[in-house]
Amino acid sequence: MKIQFCGAAKTVTGSCHYLENNKHKILIDCGMFQGFNDKEKNLLDFPFNPAEIEYVILTHAHIDHCGRLPLLLKRGFRGKIISTAATRDLTRILLADSAKVQKEDFERCERKGRQDCTPKMLYTEEEAEDVMYLFETYPYGTNVRLGEGLEIRMRDAGHILGSAIVEIWMENDHNRVRKIVFSGDLGQPGARIIKDPDFVREADYVIVESTYGNRLHKSKDETLMEFLSIIKEAQRSNGNLIVPTFAVERAQELLYELNLFVENKIVENLEVYFDSPLGSKATEIFRRYTELYDVDARRLLESGDEVFDFSGLNFIADFHDSKRLSAKNGIMIIAGSGMCTGGRVLYHLANNVGDANSHILFTGYQVKGTLGRAIVDGAPEVRINGKRYDVNIQVHTLGGFSAHSDQADLEYWLRGFGHYPKKVFTVHGDEEVIDLWSEYIRKNLMLETYVPELNEIVELD
Ligand SMILES: [Zn+2]
Repeated sequence: MKIQFCGAAKTVTGSCHYLENNKHKILIDCGMFQGFNDKEKNLLDFPFNPAEIEYVILTHAHIDHCGRLPLLLKRGFRGKIISTAATRDLTRILLADSAKVQKEDFERCERKGRQDCTPKMLYTEEEAEDVMYLFETYPYGTNVRLGEGLEIRMRDAGHILGSAIVEIWMENDHNRVRKIVFSGDLGQPGARIIKDPDFVREADYVIVESTYGNRLHKSKDETLMEFLSIIKEAQRSNGNLIVPTFAVERAQELLYELNLFVENKIVENLEVYFDSPLGSKATEIFRRYTELYDVDARRLLESGDEVFDFSGLNFIADFHDSKRLSAKNGIMIIAGSGMCTGGRVLYHLANNVGDANSHILFTGYQVKGTLGRAIVDGAPEVRINGKRYDVNIQVHTLGGFSAHSDQADLEYWLRGFGHYPKKVFTVHGDEEVIDLWSEYIRKNLMLETYVPELNEIVELD
């Protein structure tokens, strides 16, 4: 039996792991590489034959975990995609959006008459939709027998709605069953809407994410206090507050917190524009899966509160209405994309980035090579849609909203394994973070760790 790390090896994007024994060939995730330096990797052939893959087990709907599925299909995959129902629904809107963004980028590049237009289009919206026919969905906690000597079970990963930890029982070359656990992306315990990550008690091998493997988040209370003070500071300066946001989970969490601020009169005269058509679609899906909410969110819902709505909140659908926001001052604009790599936030950023009275608030991880990362890292000037802008806007980051476990949470999750796994593979993190996190596990949890290279094959006995 062997595993090949076909993405998210010493980087945070492109999650894709290939598992093979003498009977089965499966994938866990098939995500897109993102970030300036990694994007070209999406164009390369897969290091396996897509036609031979029987199943893709999808941990969650983020594009860096599902974004190469249409490519897999175009290159011969005819198997099944296994996920939770919420992951399937979110994957549909995120893949369609990804295809749309690729098309817009490509057309913009071609209009400029360039010959080397990158990113090239990986797939169209129709090709993204074709993927949806291959889904087979199961609830958390259900043992699913996929074939002889191959069984899986998904557990709540608490990262985004529908996200899963995947347990896999697979026979090795000597017909002995081995258990391999993929953490997927693990959420932060105490997240507001969805439940906390489940613990898994036993495994032979664990593949664990590393995004914040060297950092601790601020507490939720501290984060909310900071969020509040940024909102009030922006209100005082009468500038705009731009919040680039991921359309799924983060956007709904922000609405949830703002709803509580407004309903409890902690903030007054708040004018919020939710300028993310994708975020609005995701919010609809959140409304559909209330059984996945944690106890607080359900209680709020049962009290009759509309958890994603409050007075002063405006959902913007029309593109022209989005542009009209440039005439306003003292407003909060929540728009995608979360790392400022595209979407409506670029227009708002172009209007506000040079204004010292305006504020920008990052609530999520910014991948190296993205515009968001450049601003967080203090770039004095940036390019937006090909034009140069000075950066005078006041920059804030709030790590405590992260949808990822921090080092302490990850350690707590790993300690949940009663039987020590033989080996822990660390993936899904910036290179220097992965090394530190791997070292930390070795020293503090006394577990054998390994940091795989991209496309490296490791035998599992
Ligand atoms: Zn994720």
